[in-house]
Amino acid sequence: MIKAARMMLTCHWSARRIQRYLDADPSAPLEPQDIRRLEAHLAVCEKCRGAEQELRQINAALSRWTVRTMPDPNSVEHVQEFLDRLTGGTTHDGT
Ligand SMILES: [Zn+2]
Repeated sequence: MIKAARMMLTCHWSARRIQRYLDADPSAPLEPQDIRRLEAHLAVCEKCRGAEQELRQINAALSRWTVRTMPDPNSVEHVQEFLDRLTGGTTHDGT
């Protein structure tokens, strides 16, 4: 029970960082220990691995579409909806 709750919290924690992890945005880099924690979670969590795969595909699509333009707002919204769906109803952030 407690273990499951911790897993869900970690899924929520991971979901909020996968995008940054994949972007490797130099203006908002993940801490090395966060990357380690995220990778450790991805190694054991099928749900977040699926999320990472889906976000990789979205990112690849976005990068093809946005060579010269701003990101398509619909695509950005899709990413946000996807993250909301991933974390929706399973989180108790406590903050
Ligand atoms: Zn997870």
